[in-house]
Amino acid sequence: MAAASVLDPRVPGGPLDTQWQRRRDELALVGPTRRRFHTVLVIGAGLAGASAAATLSELGYRVRCLVFHDSPRRAHSVAAQGGINAAKNYQNDGDSVARLFHETLEGGDFRSREANVYRLAELSARIIDHAVAQGVPFAREYGGHLANRSFGGTLVSRTFYARGQTGQQLLLGAYGALAKEEAAGGVTLLPRREMLDLVVVDGRARGVIARDLVTGALETHLADAVVLATGGYANAYYLSTNAKASNCTAIWRAHRRGAAFANPGFVQFHPTCLPATSADQAKTTLMSESLRNDGRLWVPIRAGDARSPQDIPEAERDYFLERRYPRFGNLVPRDLGSRACKAMMEEGRGVGPGGRAVYLDVSDAARRLGVEVLRERYGNLFEMYQHITGDDPLRGSMRVAPSAHYTMGGLWVDYDLMSNIPGLFVIGEANFSDQGANRLGASALMQGLADGYFILPYTLADYLAGAQLPAVTEDAPEAREARAAVWARVERLLRVGGRRPAGDFHRALGRVLWDHCGLERSREGLVKSMEEVAALREAFWEDLALPGGAGELNQELERAGRVADFLELGELMCRDALAREESCGCHFRTEYQTNDGEALRNDERFAHVAAWLPEEGGRGPERLVEPLHFESMALLERSYK
Ligand SMILES: Cc1cc2nc3c(=O)[nH]c(=O)nc-3n(C[C@H](O)[C@H](O)[C@H](O)COP(=O)(O)OP(=O)(O)OC[C@H]3O[C@@H](n4cnc5c(N)ncnc54)[C@H](O)[C@@H]3O)c2cc1C
Repeated sequence: MAAASVLDPRVPGGPLDTQWQRRRDELALVGPTRRRFHTVLVIGAGLAGASAAATLSELGYRVRCLVFHDSPRRAHSVAAQGGINAAKNYQNDGDSVARLFHETLEGGDFRSREANVYRLAELSARIIDHAVAQGVPFAREYGGHLANRSFGGTLVSRTFYARGQTGQQLLLGAYGALAKEEAAGGVTLLPRREMLDLVVVDGRARGVIARDLVTGALETHLADAVVLATGGYANAYYLSTNAKASNCTAIWRAHRRGAAFANPGFVQFHPTCLPATSADQAKTTLMSESLRNDGRLWVPIRAGDARSPQDIPEAERDYFLERRYPRFGNLVPRDLGSRACKAMMEEGRGVGPGGRAVYLDVSDAARRLGVEVLRERYGNLFEMYQHITGDDPLRGSMRVAPSAHYTMGGLWVDYDLMSNIPGLFVIGEANFSDQGANRLGASALMQGLADGYFILPYTLADYLAGAQLPAVTEDAPEAREARAAVWARVERLLRVGGRRPAGDFHRALGRVLWDHCGLERSREGLVKSMEEVAALREAFWEDLALPGGAGELNQELERAGRVADFLELGELMCRDALAREESCGCHFRTEYQTNDGEALRNDERFAHVAAWLPEEGGRGPERLVEPLHFESMALLERSYK
């Protein structure tokens, strides 16, 4: 492989368990009296962005924080249900930093950077302490100490939770810190602003172009560094568990300015979501993995068995995860759980309309623990299920099915969380993350908060202390060019004058991705999907219907811009999945599987992160790699049996 095509993650040398400490010892600092002379732009105020913005401001930097929501409290993070992992070993069940590290590495099927995963496991305990100090009301045992439950891919209980509302409570903690800093004048919060381009001056990220979503005005925001904390892109599939507004625009526009996009095809499908019931459905709803602490997945043994679940006796039920993975049972990682559900449906044993679901049943636990205990643990999830379906989960089996949920892909970052564009940092789900080819449950909140509270504030200082950052004004040619490009794109969208609304194209894109770049992929399907996405993109620019204008609140214009970006990213997702000729974690290529249908990695050719540079001058996107090295454990075939 040519040396130029290799990305350097700048991981510090030495033993794994000393690397982060060594890096911190070596980092350059900005003195307390100098920090207020640096402005940092933070785009996004979900858990990653809010924690970073608050912490940077507490340190003395001037922070400007832009979000497209009307309040940081509406970020998608608020929807996180089940919990957050930390290697506290409160249960005295054998947990440790090393175990969390190994399980995360293995859960990700050895496609993550070892040094980052170790640091994440190391920092996990501090996140809980910090959140408790903020007043986050984690569930507690009768005696007062913090309670834990289990998530997939682990044999210990290390997940801290606040009923089924962990994200909401953590976000209130981070938001409280952010609001305090806003009141103190350190953070300027700019809601209803959508970042639409990155300003790069002399090769460094120096600002963004944003649209005021209420007035339609374009604004130039300049700074010494830009932090993207804009979340994941699972909504490329149209139907996903993400908040409806979550999108890829910020990271995609940064990619078009040169930021490498890593592993775009690594997408997680969550096995236990409410099945889509109609073609008009706008999103899917998650039933948290935490439910599988007490819930069991099953289908009828006999294909086509149309009896209602309560009429199917125990002996005629197949608890397929327990049968197939006896060691981990219902708590296998999500990639395995989702594919197993799909296999049941393909065998004709799916349940509900069209056989597109499997049962999730808590009746065993209700008998064992009592209904009240279950309500205490999962009350709001049960209410949500009943509200949507009309059925009471405590009186029968819930019906669930896999849906797009989380993106392990995202902008490539080095050990310091900086992209390949100096001064552009990317945190939370927006970066390509520490989760490899498959994230274990309750690890996203852990990563976003580790990034925001404990990593970025250090590494950003090192950048600011060492960089030459001459003043830049709105009249700089690069800023003017970016603003003109945004305006030209808005005008182009408004000019199309066709008949199909943006949502229609989005739904069509989702179908192509689900069919060919979903739970399973094949060469044939991926080649076809790239052609289909390209054709869809062409049709979009010929037939888009877009009411209203640019100088006003226009949600259709917002949507159209985001769909245009999904249509470009969608093709890169397929291209990435096509290039990776192996199966690993959530990336399951049907051509590469073991005799018993598990993912077959090819470590010789693909033990690397793939990071794509944007197409340029008629050249297609360029695939760079970051080789992955594993010192702590041998590259094993994952086994949860
Ligand atoms: C239903 C559900 C349940 C989950 N439960 C769990 C769980 O129990 N445990 C766990 O660990 N993980 C869970 N996850 C995953 C986890 O919630 C997310 O990965 C995490 O919250 C993402 O946080 P974030 O800060 O990176 O992004 P987000 O919370 O998505 O925040 C993005 C922010 O960026 C802003 N933004 C985006 N684009 C722009 C733009 N162009 N311009 C301006 N602002 C922009 C938004 O306004 C928002 O403020 C769950 C995910 C889902 C979908």
